Amino acid sequence: MNKVVLATRNAGKIVELRRILAEAGVPVELLGLDAFPHIPDVAETGLTFAENALLKAHAVAAQSGLPAVADDSGLCVDALGGMPGIFSARWSGSHGDDEANLDLLLAQISDVPDGRRQAHFACAAVLALPSGEERVVEGTMRGVVIRERRGTGGFGYDPIFVPDGESRTTAQMSPDEKDAISHRGVAFRALAQVIAEVLS
Ligand code: IMP
Repeated sequence: MNKVVLATRNAGKIVELRRILAEAGVPVELLGLDAFPHIPDVAETGLTFAENALLKAHAVAAQSGLPAVADDSGLCVDALGGMPGIFSARWSGSHGDDEANLDLLLAQISDVPDGRRQAHFACAAVLALPSGEERVVEGTMRGVVIRERRGTGGFGYDPIFVPDGESRTTAQMSPDEKDAISHRGVAFRALAQVIAEVLS
């Protein structure tokens, strides 16, 4: 079976992509970066989600000698000209402080009226081969940013994001309900097809 490395140490992402690959009937063995302790973390210096995902996937493909996949994602708020965008994880300054990121974003758009609080989550997912060949797919989920947190599921900005056509935040949905419509679900399902094409 072909081996593919997912350029992350996030166990949740590995489980999610493994499930999507299995559902799509793509016969690959997906490894995480934990299987390659010598590969250092790659600085996300790109200016787009796709650039950051490409940086990570190419670095891991080159150092592992195996096909590598990587993703990068974030929340793009219309009233903020598309920010936090690629800075979503570190919007308040320190990487991954979800509570501070949420507080800052809510404060920044507190004067934006209901009806003008549109936003979308975006995800770029990439397959890179040790030869340098690359494929990029993207997924989005549109919705609005509400004023107060609702729900305890998910992570990041989920408690303040209501997808179009929904009355609940993504933090009030089950993981399966969110996967079915989410930016990462869309991008990972498209990536599963790309992996099947390129590696078969
Ligand atoms: P990364 O792609 O895992 O680096 O995620 C970037 C950041 O974007 C996360 O730390 C979250 O702040 C935000 N983000 C990405 N996807 C989601 C999501 O599905 N829900 C909530 N926040 C998200």
